Amino acid sequence: MKIISGLSVLQIIPALFLIIIIGTIVGYWFQLIICFFLYLILAINYNLIQFEKWIFTKNGIKQTQSTSFWEKISLVIESREKHLKYQLIQKEKELSNLQNSLESIDYGMIKLSDALKVEWWNKVAGRLIDLREESDQGVHLLSLIRSPKFVEYIENEDFSDSLIIESFKDQEKSLEFKICPVSKNGWILVIYDVSRLKKMERMRQDFVAHVSHELKTPLTVVLGYIELLSDSPNIPKLAKGYLEKTLRQSKKMNNTVDDLLLLSNLETSVPQYPAQMIDCDKLILEVQNQSIEILAVMDKSKTNIYKNKKTNLYIEGFYKELLSAVSNLVINAIRYSPNGSTINLEFGVQDDYGFISVIDNGPGIQSKHLSRLTERFYRADNSHSPKTGGTGLGLSIVKHILSRHDSFLEVESRIGEGSTFTCVFPPDRISES
Ligand code: ADP
Repeated sequence: MKIISGLSVLQIIPALFLIIIIGTIVGYWFQLIICFFLYLILAINYNLIQFEKWIFTKNGIKQTQSTSFWEKISLVIESREKHLKYQLIQKEKELSNLQNSLESIDYGMIKLSDALKVEWWNKVAGRLIDLREESDQGVHLLSLIRSPKFVEYIENEDFSDSLIIESFKDQEKSLEFKICPVSKNGWILVIYDVSRLKKMERMRQDFVAHVSHELKTPLTVVLGYIELLSDSPNIPKLAKGYLEKTLRQSKKMNNTVDDLLLLSNLETSVPQYPAQMIDCDKLILEVQNQSIEILAVMDKSKTNIYKNKKTNLYIEGFYKELLSAVSNLVINAIRYSPNGSTINLEFGVQDDYGFISVIDNGPGIQSKHLSRLTERFYRADNSHSPKTGGTGLGLSIVKHILSRHDSFLEVESRIGEGSTFTCVFPPDRISES
């Protein structure tokens, strides 16, 4: 910059001072001013030579004696222009390669501006949500996809999860939408056609529901006869032992079938709205009363179950479902904690979210299992399961019930200290009066 600006202050000020000093001492102002101007011309020339060198080395142009300064400058400009044109062609090639790649992937992509206006889309996106080049360019996303669930997804501005909805073009199709931010430059909306996955999921649900249904009736009959036989006084001692074992296993199988049927029902049925406002104090009191019988059945009569003092918390939901969810958590706490343990049932509001916690001081669960506990048939400690007699579906049922209440399960646990299972309810589902 020093060179380009012609003359620097550092070149002028000392020379000016020298002229003034010499002029004051010896006079000859006219000659001194001429000298000063000559100095200025030389300095400008020197700077121009430096500038020439700098610009030529920077642009990789060989210097020739024959060309004048301005010819050299035009050479530089020409070479810069060529270079820029080349760069532009390269960038255009890169862009078209990128667009071709995006066209060839089998999911839809839409580039959106910061204000969610459509800027570009690939063929798959155009096909999936019926976009037209002439009319949809620059249109706001919510004018194109008006499904209430999608509008809510966009307005909530929480894009950490994706959204799956039925295609508005074809009811048989399901589409998954995921919005990803493009660093300070708008958004990318990715659209997957998940119809096949959804269909397979439905087939799995139907299969489990049908099999459980088909098993339920014969199992009830078998169980009934075994109970009848084992109560009969004429059964020999040896056969009685076999019958007891058969009865135990049949009951276990019956419980598993019941849980599978319940899970299928929770997965496939739509919640029956309007939901009621559930008094949490009443709900927890009922769970506590039910637990007394369970303690006796499980031979844990020394275990204590406490409930926190009355708090005004009401949850919008389905009483039977929430009762079943909290009971499942309490049954687990009783089942996995030794006789004489303490189980606390707490509920209230924290940071605007409602919560119901079941806290035990049992053996605790290793952290590596925590994220998988709600999977079907997942057991944290296999050695425990035959003794404890659970079906392996309890927490999966809890998760499904909570998701029908727009809520979720949080698990905290420390080996040797105990576990806390918390049902968390969103602010719009709770009331404190
Ligand atoms: P199960 O019928 O086996 O209890 P669940 O789905 O209810 O199935 O629980 C899954 C697993 O989580 C259990 O097998 C057990 O290992 C673990 N678990 C659940 N609750 C507790 C608890 N309160 N303390 C320790 N482990 C627990």
